[in-house]
Amino acid sequence: MESFKNLGINEFVLKSINDSKFESPSEIQEKSIPLILAGKDVIAGSATGSGKTLAFAAGILQNSEKGKGIQALVLTPTRELAEQVASALIKFSKYRPLGIIAVYGGVGINPQIKGLKTADVVVGTPGRILDHIQRSTIKFGNVKTLVLDEADRMFDMGFKDDVERIIRKCPTERQTLLFSATITKDVVRLSRSHMKKPLQVSVDSYVDPKKLIQTYYDVGDEMKFSLLVHLLKHENSDLVMVFCNTKRNTDKVARNLRFSGIDAQAIHGGLPQGKRNDVMRSFHSGKSCVLVCTDVAARGLDIEGVSHVYNYDIPRESKQYIHRIGRTARAGAEGKAINILSRNDYDNLSAVLKENDVDIKEETVPAFERVVIRQPERKMNRPDRNKPFVKKGQQRNRRRRLY
Ligand code: AMP
Repeated sequence: MESFKNLGINEFVLKSINDSKFESPSEIQEKSIPLILAGKDVIAGSATGSGKTLAFAAGILQNSEKGKGIQALVLTPTRELAEQVASALIKFSKYRPLGIIAVYGGVGINPQIKGLKTADVVVGTPGRILDHIQRSTIKFGNVKTLVLDEADRMFDMGFKDDVERIIRKCPTERQTLLFSATITKDVVRLSRSHMKKPLQVSVDSYVDPKKLIQTYYDVGDEMKFSLLVHLLKHENSDLVMVFCNTKRNTDKVARNLRFSGIDAQAIHGGLPQGKRNDVMRSFHSGKSCVLVCTDVAARGLDIEGVSHVYNYDIPRESKQYIHRIGRTARAGAEGKAINILSRNDYDNLSAVLKENDVDIKEETVPAFERVVIRQPERKMNRPDRNKPFVKKGQQRNRRRRLY
């Protein structure tokens, strides 16, 4: 605790850190908190899992008071990350509670409008924040701290203009903190136009390489799923994340894992927000142990206790590989990243190996049972039974073909 105190963190935040049983500050906390508490603008190169939330929370909680309007705004790329950051802020402000609200799309706007009336700290995604700005249901005149969390991902997701529009609504007299796994050109550009003499800090790696074992199996395309089932059943694991490159594969893999008796849930951007929240709740609570996801859905999710990350598809963008494996071997724990590849993945794996400093060892493919993948039942969509199923001309053609 002494080491957290030395960073200058307030007593009431220290008490909540003590409750969280954190023993010592993480690297990014050590490097950034003194600057943040001194009121500087900071660019922090750090990914999910580095402990960045507490770093900016320390600043927000020191500078915000209850009942003085929205004094801090945190922009996040995804709804899940907004929820996660809001929960962390609530936890760290336990001994001096504030009105903290998460604001994102895909859910009703009215409860948010009500919550915003008494909010001191807002955490939200750019789209819904802009919506509130347009409705005049959010006021940023009192904002003292602006945080751009996972800025590179916000830009990747096409929120650059939205983010800039929101920044322009905040007072120029403010502290701006930017967190980003990679310091891209866009990040630098934004910092030049919207930050004051920013100081840059970064941490070298997302995970402890000594604690992370990375392997790959090379199998025929039709054997990938069977090998995944075999490994999930035979590896000694806690929580597991299985990454796919498409929504379709995500659904297919999760559904077929359930057919094979494995408690798996899919999460991807195509699911309604309510469903995404349910899936995350059940995964966080350990009720379901295998989360099958796309990169977009997994962005910024902080899940403790992930022992295994499987790449069912090797990511098309090699830096995603680093984001994926960063889900495990965190906070001193051990982890395994297992790549199941077939011919289609060779190019992607070559790029991963070429562009990143990673050590992935080939494993001998074990003997395993073949599992047949079931395709979903095809639904006949006929909303209006009186309407012909096909247009008349097409009907004629179809008959002709039948004869
Ligand atoms: P973040 O990078 O903020 O998403 O944090 C990743 C995880 O690390 C969260 O579950 C935090 O509760 C945890 N964490 C943050 N700071 C520390 C610390 N100093 N020691 C141990 N765990 C921490």
